[in-house]
Amino acid sequence: MYTSPILKLGKRDGILARTTHPVVIAGPCSAESEAQMLQTARGLKKLQGVSIFRAGIWKPRTRPGTFQGMGTAGLEWLKTVKQETGLRTACEVAGTSHVAEALKHEVDVLIIGAHTTVNPFLVQEIADALKGVTIPVLVKNPVNPDLPLWLGALERLQQSGVSDLGAMHRGFSTLDNAPYRNHPKWDHVMELKSIHPDLPVYCDASHIAGRRSLLRPVSQRAISLGYDGLMLEAHHNPAAALSDAGQQLMPQELDMLLQSLNYESIDPEAARQGVEMEELRKQIEYLDDELLDLLSRRSKVSARMESFPKAGVAEALQVVHWDLVLENLLLQANSAGINKDFVQTVFQEVRKHYAQTYLYQA
Ligand code: PEP
Ligand code: MN
Repeated sequence: MYTSPILKLGKRDGILARTTHPVVIAGPCSAESEAQMLQTARGLKKLQGVSIFRAGIWKPRTRPGTFQGMGTAGLEWLKTVKQETGLRTACEVAGTSHVAEALKHEVDVLIIGAHTTVNPFLVQEIADALKGVTIPVLVKNPVNPDLPLWLGALERLQQSGVSDLGAMHRGFSTLDNAPYRNHPKWDHVMELKSIHPDLPVYCDASHIAGRRSLLRPVSQRAISLGYDGLMLEAHHNPAAALSDAGQQLMPQELDMLLQSLNYESIDPEAARQGVEMEELRKQIEYLDDELLDLLSRRSKVSARMESFPKAGVAEALQVVHWDLVLENLLLQANSAGINKDFVQTVFQEVRKHYAQTYLYQA
């Protein structure tokens, strides 16, 4: 269990904490044009539950030459959305110049992106730029599953006086993310929640899922775990989106998704146990792979023995040898607390399978 030098991160009476219903942040991955922003925002304004409109202004893209975001022009459109719909606005900031621009355009909530949370220098600069400013900040988890790094970013902001602070879970880059775009690793977030129970936690279902079909189960899991809010990307015409086209929903699709979620059955303990069970299942899968790998290595060694037939000795000797091996294995099983009959059966089967080879063992 990690600890935090700051005893209490976040607060329950800020705008990021859920009241009766979770807070829903929705909007396009990227601000593309004033028409796209307004059309999407007008659709979202009608949805019950959506209270914050997001849009990416500066986009962290993997390769140069792809769409990098519209920059300051996008902030003007965000301001127009706020004036016209009354929705609060949110955007990602990845440096001090972004902070200054966003504050100038009266953005209501700042988001620190996953690619920024990984960099303590940048986070500290942003935290310093926010000294004396009252604005809620949501900190996404770092790209890699590193809880102290996530905590560190939150602590830097809190130390700068940002008290309306929240954590946003957007999934992690792991060796095997399938079927997700970013693996949720729910247990990681459970640990954060247990260290800082007052810290509002959001789920960015879009960047975890990466595809529309997974948005519902990911959102439901977050709700069942008692998250304070959801963030879902929405676009009036997702197929034409300049970024993340495959994971954005039309406002009416988002409406259906939000209505299909079960908000009543919040049983964080049951959901926590479900998460743990999933982790244990993954461990079993991993160990089964290891077992298979061991059997394969064993079979290769056996195969090599077959190439030395002249080194063979009488089978009678092998019986004695095998009895000693088995006796030793059963003793080990006993001290490891594994059922001896089970171990005996397993090894006898393994031996039977490689009986041919045992003839040659010295
Ligand atoms: C985003 O929210 O559009 C985004 C780029 O997210 P992340 O920082 O999670 O990659
Ligand atoms: Mn996106």
